[in-house]
Amino acid sequence: MKSKPLRNLVLVLGDQLNADSAAFDGFDRDADGVWMAEVCHESEHVWTHKARIVMFLAAMRHFRNALEDRGLRVLYRELPATGKDSIETFSDALEQTLAELECSKLVVVDPGEWRVRQELKDAAERLGVALEFRADRHFLSTPEQFAEHAEGRKQLRMEYFYREIRRRHNVLMKDGKPVGGKWNFDHDNRKSYGKQGPDPHPPKAFPPDAVTAGVIKLVNRRFAEHPGDMDAFDWPVTPEHAAHALKDFIKNRLPRFGDYQDAMWTGEPFLNHSLLSAAMNLKLINPAQVVQAAVDAYQDGSAPLNCVEGFVRQILGWREYVRGVYWLHMPGYLERNELGADRPLPDFYWTGETEMACLRDAIGQTLTYGYAHHTQRLMVTGLHALLVGVDPREVHKWYLAVYVDAVEWVELPNTLGMSQFADGGVMASKPYAASGKYIDRMSNYCQSCRFAPAKATGDDACPFTTLYWDFLDRNRERLEENQRMKLQVKNLDRKTDEELASIREAAARLR
Ligand SMILES: Cc1cc2nc3c(=O)[nH]c(=O)nc-3n(C[C@H](O)[C@H](O)[C@H](O)COP(=O)(O)OP(=O)(O)OC[C@H]3O[C@@H](n4cnc5c(N)ncnc54)[C@H](O)[C@@H]3O)c2cc1C
Ligand code: SF4
Repeated sequence: MKSKPLRNLVLVLGDQLNADSAAFDGFDRDADGVWMAEVCHESEHVWTHKARIVMFLAAMRHFRNALEDRGLRVLYRELPATGKDSIETFSDALEQTLAELECSKLVVVDPGEWRVRQELKDAAERLGVALEFRADRHFLSTPEQFAEHAEGRKQLRMEYFYREIRRRHNVLMKDGKPVGGKWNFDHDNRKSYGKQGPDPHPPKAFPPDAVTAGVIKLVNRRFAEHPGDMDAFDWPVTPEHAAHALKDFIKNRLPRFGDYQDAMWTGEPFLNHSLLSAAMNLKLINPAQVVQAAVDAYQDGSAPLNCVEGFVRQILGWREYVRGVYWLHMPGYLERNELGADRPLPDFYWTGETEMACLRDAIGQTLTYGYAHHTQRLMVTGLHALLVGVDPREVHKWYLAVYVDAVEWVELPNTLGMSQFADGGVMASKPYAASGKYIDRMSNYCQSCRFAPAKATGDDACPFTTLYWDFLDRNRERLEENQRMKLQVKNLDRKTDEELASIREAAARLR
């Protein structure tokens, strides 16, 4: 028997956990309801890390509980502990709900993923129910503003969009000019930790409470074969946790964030990073609040400008920019493969079992925590896949699966565009191609590796260095057309024919 008809059924997806979102505008407790569903397709369409599944489900269940505590009616479908009776997709789940309950309209904030938006649209049409998409107010720019910015530009650059947003939101600005007289303090940043190594302040941990522990148990049973560990799970899964995590970062790690934002160190997964991406992506915390906390730290003298600007640039700049790229270019973006890369992803991406110390560390911590920082993602795992020539779709599926913060609007442009250059230069003006010498400069990985970062051939040749020269050689014609790659390609000419022949041979074996 159907229950009393609802006016609006507010759909809340796993990365929309914000009770102040537009979906709740005008919410009437007597007439409206909230709908949330744990569907297995979202954890299975890529081979998802257990920690990522726990992150989403634990945060969703806490959000449900918070809404119920406020007296809202929540229709919530939990995933059963076994494969039996699982609901596959959002549309299946919606269909079941609407068979039991009538509502005049479905309301949802614009989903962050093209596939999900399409799926909801199709489901609503099929089920004959009205669906209203509402604007996502979580971001500091809109896809429309990005499209306007992109209009007529031959080439997009993050820097210019970032400046626009800073001006629009008056962030680190004085009298219409950037504070400190420069937009960018990268010159002061990008240091390595040197011989003495880092002295990082460990991030605040949020040990599982009963709700999260219940989800961990479920995931260990239901997704036993999936990659990743659960022993170390202590991610923030509520807005309160996220606020504590922000405070902890601002006080303890922001003051040196800029200096060391690209540095890496064996066995030190978090260094000076914020670990706020998952909390922001699931909307447990607002990016404007995060940016303001960093600006306040500069204004009260507790963090220097190079660190604060460097951090603000990641959120106001890169985070907004990649979202703009995603919505401007989807759905075709997913199919881009400018370099024609077609190799399979090496198996060790799922185990970390490799002799290459840098990859072993970056993948090892990924499997333990569901986390690696930006330089590890771009210049270790991403770089290796680029140089090998792995099919960008395969690389995309791996990144979407293994990080707790992975959602497609941010993961895809970073992976397919920035790290694999498969979009031919939409995200980055040149491929992020480098040899083992870059990794040696920015980390201590090479010190404990059996390979020598400067060597391209021989028994102890660094695979990154061999593959780097091979990458330039294989893609020479295309890369020569790129002004910013000319010098790198020219260096190939210094190699003798014999050297090039042995590089090609060694690279063929590696690839
Ligand atoms: C191949 C690849 C895949 C990536 N996949 C994801 C992903 O799935 N989800 C995700 O949130 N980020 C992704 N990133 C961006 C970045 O690596 C992570 O945001 C960052 O490592 C998260 O850690 P943190 O919160 O400690 O970041 P911090 O180093 O403390 O940076 C602060 C914040 O800035 C934002 N940010 C920094 N760099 C970027 C960037 N390039 N694009 C967008 N936002 C950025 C994040 O919100 C981050 O929390 C990816 C980068 C690469 C190269
Ligand atoms: S020598 Fe090469 S493979 Fe080994 S850690 Fe350094 S960059 Fe990585």
